Parts: sequence; C-alpha cells; structure tokens
Amino acid sequence: MDAELQADRAALADTVRRFAESEIAPNVQAWDDAGEFPRGLYTRAAELGLLGLGYPEELGGTPASYSLKLPAWVALARHGRSGGVLASLFSHNIGLPPVVLHASDAVRREVVPPVLRGEKIAALAITEPGGGSDVAALRTTARLEGDHYVVNGEKTFITSGMRADWITVAVRTGEGRGAGGISMLLVPGDAPGLARTRLSKMGWLCSDTATLHFDNVRVPARYLLGHEGEGFRMVMGNFNGERIGLAAGALGFSQACLDEALAWARERKAFGAALIEHQAVRHKLVDMQMRIASTEAWAEAVSAEGDALEAAGRHNAPEWVAQICMLKNHATQTMQFCADQAVQILGGMGFMRGTASERIYREVKVMMIGGGAEEIMKELAARQMGWL
Ligand SMILES: Cc1cc2nc3c(=O)[nH]c(=O)nc-3n(C[C@H](O)[C@H](O)[C@H](O)COP(=O)(O)OP(=O)(O)OC[C@H]3O[C@@H](n4cnc5c(N)ncnc54)[C@H](O)[C@@H]3O)c2cc1C
Repeated sequence: MDAELQADRAALADTVRRFAESEIAPNVQAWDDAGEFPRGLYTRAAELGLLGLGYPEELGGTPASYSLKLPAWVALARHGRSGGVLASLFSHNIGLPPVVLHASDAVRREVVPPVLRGEKIAALAITEPGGGSDVAALRTTARLEGDHYVVNGEKTFITSGMRADWITVAVRTGEGRGAGGISMLLVPGDAPGLARTRLSKMGWLCSDTATLHFDNVRVPARYLLGHEGEGFRMVMGNFNGERIGLAAGALGFSQACLDEALAWARERKAFGAALIEHQAVRHKLVDMQMRIASTEAWAEAVSAEGDALEAAGRHNAPEWVAQICMLKNHATQTMQFCADQAVQILGGMGFMRGTASERIYREVKVMMIGGGAEEIMKELAARQMGWL
C-alpha cells in the first residue's frame, strides 16, 4: 500500500472515530429507546463528507476506493457501537448506487446531491413478505400506462422505510417471469398510494424498519433505472458493496466487544484478583483477538483485490464475489463469537441495557441474515467458484 493511501486512510478513520465517539456513542441508548435518531445526524455526517464517500464529484461526492473506505467503516462501528445508526444513516449506500449507475443524467442530478447533503434519505426495497433470499421470485408489479408505471405489491423489512424520500424498488415489469422480468424503479417517498408500517425488532432499535404497501402507486416512467428486465443484474451487482460494508461493520463491532471486555477484565475483581489475571478470562480475550485479526486481514485483502479489479475494468469477477460472500460469513461469525464472549466476561453487566456488548449481542443476527443470509452466501460462493 502506498504512503499516500496509508495517510489518507489514517486521517479519514481518525475523523470518523472522533465523530462516532462524540456524536453517536453517547446518544445511542436514548435513540434506541426513542426508536429513531435525529435527522440532523444526516446533515452532520454529510458535512464531514461521510455520506458522499465513494460517489462521483459531479454529484457532490468524493470518489473513494474500497481500501480507503474499509478503515472508516470499521471505525464507525467500533466507536459508534450501533448497528442501527449505521444501517439507517448509510441506507443510501444500498439505495443510491443503482441510481448513480443507471438513471438518466437528469434523474441523477435531481436525486443524488440532496441525499449526499443529508437533506433527503434513500432506501432500497427488494425483500417481500413472501421471501427475500429468492429475489427472482419477487411479485411486486409495475405496469406501464402511458408515461407512468403503476406499482402494486408489498416490500418488507426495509431499512429507513419509514423516513425514506427516495426508494429504489425491485419490481416485475411486463410479462417477464423469473430473474429476466425484474426491473428497478425509483419511487418518490411522497407518491400517492404508498403506505408504510413501522416494524418492531430485536435490535437496530434506532433504525426505522418498515413494510411498504404499494396500492396503484403512479411513478413517472423516467424513474425506471436502466431498461426493463435489467433489475436482477443490478440487484446482484449492488450486493457486493453492501456485503463488504456489512463485513467491515461486523469487524468494528467485534473490536468494540473486545475493547469493552478488555477494559472490564482489567478493572473488575473476583477472588482477590482482576478478571484478566484469571487464565480462563484472558484466554477468551485472546480467542476474540485471534478472530478479529484474521477477519481484518481478509477484509483488507478483499478490498485491495476489489480496487485492483475495478482498475482493470473487471467488475463482479466471480472469484472476488465468492471471497466477499465468505468474508461476510466469517466477519459476522467473528462478531457473534466476540459478542458472546464479551457478554460472558461482563457477567450480569453484559445483560444490562447500555453496554455495547449487550447491544451488539442482539444486533449480530441481522448481520448474518441481511444483505444475503449465511446459507445463501455459501451457495453463491460455491457457484462463483465454479463448483456447480
Ligand atoms: C433489520 C432488517 C433490515 C433489512 N433491511 C432491508 C432493506 O433495507 N432492503 C431489503 O430489501 N431487505 C432488507 N432486509 C431483508 C433481508 O435482506 C432478508 O431478511 C434476507 O435477505 C432473508 O430473506 P427472508 O427474511 O425473506 O428469509 P427467507 O428467504 O425466507 O429465508 C429464511 C431462511 O431460509 C434460508 N434459506 C432460504 N433459501 C435457502 C436455500 N436455497 N438453501 C438453504 N437455506 C435457504 C435462509 O438462509 C434463511 O436462513 C432487512 C432485514 C432485516 C431483518
């Protein structure tokens, strides 16, 4: 890694750490209790350039490689200690890429800059009540009538679903069946006929998650992204960035658990000695560090490979996609292990609301399911490696 990239990574991660420590971590418990965080956090993150990271300059962003972004996402998770904040604050990172890549120039200019300024919220809606893993089976329809699409159906478990101003929705157009009949349509949040129901969850409590109901929602045809029938490919391509982000978050949350457990083990006394002086306790901490180190090394390697492939114009290279799938599983398993061990080391305190470990213990399951469940990641990895 060259010296300039190293310096940029350190500077960005430091900015993120200060933001997360001062403006996220102290408020997370209150935001979780309230079921949402203030909209002002979007504008604050935008001022620091975090919302625009990885987007084209002409749309108000700052282009960034995977290697530059990785330590920033890890720091946000490690020091912010809230998956709920990350999920909603950065839901545009799953909702906007199809707009940036496939919308007309006029639509990109209308939609993207206000989101990157933190004034509007973007979300992605693929999952339906009938199923999420089998994307090719989705049933929400969009029928072209003159210069509008008319959308009918339901989406569920949608992050930022209650507040989103723009929703990138996977729909079935025309007579197409299976993967070939799927298209991506950008739906304005204020479209008549769109209704939202808030969902209550095990974790990510301050993230607004919703079911969206589309009842003859009329959407101008100019909001179709790309062409009809191209949606499945867009959805699959979009998953790469999301899964690397989830792996980076899982790594940061694992580190947050280790930070908290290590501090507690040094301070707490039992049987006349600090917990860390008991061999069984410090061995748990070493086991956590061991898994964190392997996850970090793999995440760095996958990021560097992604940058090299992009530079060579090889997007979605199968061997890289397989690595991402396995990395996501490894990182979330590391997070699960670290959360479990940290709660154990904290003892009764680890069961109390307000500790990072307690929150992360509840949040890990969604990391193992969202963005592609563990079983689906294994299937995809096997296929991308050419084993089937
Ligand atoms: C808090 C939260 C936020 C979310 N945010 C969003 C969002 O913003 N946008 C969005 O579109 N979706 C979102 N999701 C949905 C998420 O992506 C889906 O939950 C996920 O893809 C799994 O789909 P499902 O829940 O329908 O499970 P199903 O597809 O019904 O699967 C259930 C179980 O069966 C397993 N399974 C399914 N098929 C196979 C198979 N062939 N072989 C082996 N095992 C299999 C799965 O791995 C899983 O364990 C969110 C979910 C949660 C919980």
